[in-house]
Amino acid sequence: MLVPLDDARRHVLGFLTRPLPAETVAATEALGRITAERIVAPEAVPSFDNSAMDGYGVRAIDTVVAPVELRATGRTLAGEGPLGMVGAGEAVRIMTGAPLSPGIDAVVPIEQVDVLDDGARIRLAAPVPFGQHVRRTGDDLVIGDVVVESGARLSAAHLGLLASLGLEKVSAVRRPRVGVLSTGDELVQGPVPLLSGQIRDSNRPALLSLVAEAGAEPVDLGHAPDEAGAITAAFLAGVTSCDAILSSGGVSMGDVDLVKEVLDLIGEMRWMQVAIKPAKPFAFGLVDGVPVFGLPGNPVSSLVSFELFARPAIRRLAGHPDHRLDRPCPTAIAVDGLPRKPDGKIHFDRVVVRIASEGRLEVRSAGGQGSHQMSAMAAANGLAIVPDSLGIPVGGRVAVLLTGEL
Ligand code: AMP
Ligand code: MG
Repeated sequence: MLVPLDDARRHVLGFLTRPLPAETVAATEALGRITAERIVAPEAVPSFDNSAMDGYGVRAIDTVVAPVELRATGRTLAGEGPLGMVGAGEAVRIMTGAPLSPGIDAVVPIEQVDVLDDGARIRLAAPVPFGQHVRRTGDDLVIGDVVVESGARLSAAHLGLLASLGLEKVSAVRRPRVGVLSTGDELVQGPVPLLSGQIRDSNRPALLSLVAEAGAEPVDLGHAPDEAGAITAAFLAGVTSCDAILSSGGVSMGDVDLVKEVLDLIGEMRWMQVAIKPAKPFAFGLVDGVPVFGLPGNPVSSLVSFELFARPAIRRLAGHPDHRLDRPCPTAIAVDGLPRKPDGKIHFDRVVVRIASEGRLEVRSAGGQGSHQMSAMAAANGLAIVPDSLGIPVGGRVAVLLTGEL
């Protein structure tokens, strides 16, 4: 019996209901992580009144009778302290970011000033509004303002904001450590010549990269041959150091698909044939309480299975909200159509999506759709979700999971 995709996904996520615990980390290490508590401003930003322009600081009241001449009595640069009291009829040269000296309440950009007598006097043609080009203390944040809510994904701008407040540490959900294991006697590692029947292990580097891209910490658990002892040892080592484990291969109907046997002995697994193509065989369960994903061995299948099952689970562990567990899934126009035959499965076609005129998304097949054909997977930036049918006709609409950049 084929398991509907939604049921299989619900099954997996049902085991991963809570994020990992929080930890205090350096803000510089926190990009993309989820905050575990609300952060409030311990100081005001800016912390002093300052100029938003290079020009002259003036007392607005002196300029209501413009045109007017003022005595230029000093200069303040960014990084310096303010001058003494600026009196009636006086102005000071001021640079962007420099503090306003007492008395100054507006800034005139240098372009609007006639500088006379080698800078001893200035003439203004028009009155200057009170507060013009002045950045007031606390304009951005006052003490106690919420800087980042709990549960927010820390962006580059957040980290800039934290730095502007002198905050060097944040409490964030721990980054999941995700182990990746390859299985199979046919796999060889490294740039050695292939003997008859051998292939190179391509799933492990690809899955480790997807783990990193999902914001988790990849842990390379290496390669186990089709031998129960070695597979057992690899999983047991993995569960001591990882928050989740991904294995590829050995979960289908082959004679040496020992991953199945081993995991049934050391864990509680559910073996599924999911109603999707590629990536039909899939296993999920717990070994010593650690979630284990038995991904199919075929290279394209292992990556599609990762997208549909492992990625949302990893992101839940990392604290992402439910509406951001999956990649964005916009609708696109199938320029050439995406034909298929009914077979009771949802197909995930490897496609190239691009932004066409007026922001419309267009989608085309990325090439050969065999589950061993990694070249199309590599060329693709999306997986078109083609429902069980005769496919998407030319010009028809299809939802596309965006796995890469547009
Ligand atoms: P299996 O499910 O173990 O029978 O594997 C299915 C197919 O995927 C076979 O053609 C395997 O050789 C291939 N395969 C399994 N693991 C990997 C891997 N790590 N890298 C590349 N291909 C693999
Ligand atoms: Mg195998």
